[in-house]
Amino acid sequence: MDHSIVELEAIIRNRICRLCTDRTVEGDCSLEEPDHCALFRLFPQVAEAIQTVESDDIEPYIEAIRRNVCSVCADQAADGSCETRQQVQCALDAYLVLVVDAIEEATGKTFDRKGLGATGAEQTVTIGPRIQ
Ligand code: SF4
Ligand code: SF4
Repeated sequence: MDHSIVELEAIIRNRICRLCTDRTVEGDCSLEEPDHCALFRLFPQVAEAIQTVESDDIEPYIEAIRRNVCSVCADQAADGSCETRQQVQCALDAYLVLVVDAIEEATGKTFDRKGLGATGAEQTVTIGPRIQ
């Protein structure tokens, strides 16, 4: 299934923002600067990183995100740490399993989440830092 990057972003916004704890009841993003959300600020890099991986294990996706997205993100410190991630304020990190699942589904691939425990697609809580 071929989607433009704009279409793919719209699909992912629809899937992730509605589950995000930073979304208001009115459906808006409650971040002080909504454009700062790393998931969408760096969405082309996110989509590309995820599509370069083919695995049912989340680790290779985490590595790809670290390599292709965190490396160009202004929030990452020189030593590779990220205060935003530490504070569970990065939606990309917090919802990575769901983002991978949604992008793989939209691009016609399958990400088998069987081994991931409680990180189901309808989960609404922040699932914590995943990118080490
Ligand atoms: S923080 Fe990001 S994922 Fe969450 S509602 Fe705002 S734009 Fe959507
Ligand atoms: S974890 Fe930090 S460095 Fe990586 S995308 Fe999120 S905010 Fe940026």
